[in-house]
Amino acid sequence: MKQKVLISACLLGINCRYDQKSKKIQKIVALSDEFDFIPVCPEQLGGLPTPRPSSFFIAGNGSETIKGAKNMINDAGNDVSEAFVNGAEQTLKICKMLNIKTAILKENSPSCGKNWVYLYEKLAQGSGVTASLLMKNGIRIKSENEI
Ligand code: SF4
Repeated sequence: MKQKVLISACLLGINCRYDQKSKKIQKIVALSDEFDFIPVCPEQLGGLPTPRPSSFFIAGNGSETIKGAKNMINDAGNDVSEAFVNGAEQTLKICKMLNIKTAILKENSPSCGKNWVYLYEKLAQGSGVTASLLMKNGIRIKSENEI
């Protein structure tokens, strides 16, 4: 039986990004021969529409958002912290339900970024909201750059 791996849906070619496009990476898609991929888009799971304004941190990163910080806004200037936390919680629920212990997540995303996220318009070290919550709950994460 193949190992279940949660994966950012945009990496598989699903058009779930804010601009309704994907970030398909063929070498990751090819890994579906080895792994049983469970695709998710935490931002959609959090109730955000597609397309949607892009979002970014105005302070810190996702490890603070999951503790209640209101530190994320979108291009329209609206606080989106709650939607991002909702999406992270739904994603964790899927991991627990399916006993998933490993995830491949899209770097630089305010949800899925493992090592880098946007603080305003600049990349800064830190993790996205979903990546932070999954790591806190013992899920092993790799970004697409670490595959
Ligand atoms: Fe891709 Fe994650 Fe952004 Fe959804 S939230 S578009 S899965 S990087």
